[in-house]
Amino acid sequence: MLPPVWDLDDELEDIRARGLGRRLRTIDACRDSEVAIDGRSTLLLCSNDYLGLATDERLIAAACAAAERWGAGSGSSRLISGSLRIHRELEEKIAEWKKSERALVFSSGYHANLGVLQALVGRGDAVFSDALNHASLIDGCRLSRAAVHVYPHADVAALERALSVASGARRKLVVTDSVFSMDGDRAPLADICDVAERHGAAVMVDEAHATGVFGPSGAGLVEELGLDGRVLVQMGTLGKALGSFGAYVAGSASLVDLLVNRARTFIFTTGLPPAAVGAASAAVDVVRTEPERRARLWANARTLHGALVRGGYRMAALESPILPVMVGDERRAMALCEHLLERGVFAQGIRPPTVPEGTSRLRVTLMATHRPDQLERAAAAFLDARREAA
Ligand code: PMP
Repeated sequence: MLPPVWDLDDELEDIRARGLGRRLRTIDACRDSEVAIDGRSTLLLCSNDYLGLATDERLIAAACAAAERWGAGSGSSRLISGSLRIHRELEEKIAEWKKSERALVFSSGYHANLGVLQALVGRGDAVFSDALNHASLIDGCRLSRAAVHVYPHADVAALERALSVASGARRKLVVTDSVFSMDGDRAPLADICDVAERHGAAVMVDEAHATGVFGPSGAGLVEELGLDGRVLVQMGTLGKALGSFGAYVAGSASLVDLLVNRARTFIFTTGLPPAAVGAASAAVDVVRTEPERRARLWANARTLHGALVRGGYRMAALESPILPVMVGDERRAMALCEHLLERGVFAQGIRPPTVPEGTSRLRVTLMATHRPDQLERAAAAFLDARREAA
């Protein structure tokens, strides 16, 4: 018999009593933006597959071809026998695309952020982190053992004050999402680079939600704003707009060599499976050569944003394909999510600790492949939910 401290059900009950219980919702079948949940066809309105590439035939064919040629798994960590030519080719392609000397792929965005922060800063250093940064950046900051200064969201003046106060730190690193994952707004990257440069700090940008979505070639917000060369670390994921799985870090040759030597989440894990590498590589080609997908994504985001505003929803300005529909209370957010599901629309409710207390919301995300009739269906379901709640 285990002692009472091991009563895990008590703990779960406590989470559920606070309206914060989570459970996995199973997708039984998927075809682009239409999925089957609980036996019914449902419109997908909360995927990060912004360009609809996860089910693109070219990516699927590339994944199959890579698995056939290289195997189902890479068999080992990259530093042992798991560094295959296909990894190297993807890294070269990403480096060229991101206009960087080199790139390195990681097993996930979570791994990449932990690994970079732990490798670059430590005791005696200072990290400056936006209050709404992704959990993986927050955890990376903690793991690094550097002094962590959290500045109010997108507040460049506050960042500058924090940088001045920490002038004694050995290395200073400013770290920010470029597109904030739960709010969809964009970081003031040019101002952040200015302030960082004035204070001798380097900048790390998480382009998870900007890769494939911003910039003339889809390389991200750094490309869109012409900030190449002013950002030390550009990190992005392969599992969102690129429709595959994994992540990259792009930067100088020394940065990449240091990561290979020091980033524990790179060193001590198995290399990305060939199928994921093959699909990501095909995705980079599609993203670079089909800007019309980005145009359709933006048109779709404008359409649904406009419909929600006209329907009485209080929406923040449109800055990305992520549209938070603010609710506030945890249970009400989940009730709205269920209400929409009953009408065949899936927009996941997001609650603490993913977002701050009292800011529960539905995180609506658009895809380039949403059709006009699907967007009309989505808008109608939201308006219906609002009428019913009134
Ligand atoms: N950074 C941001 C901003 C993210 O939104 C995410 C994923 N939600 C990650 C990093 C982690 O990426 P991955 O899913 O590849 O671990």
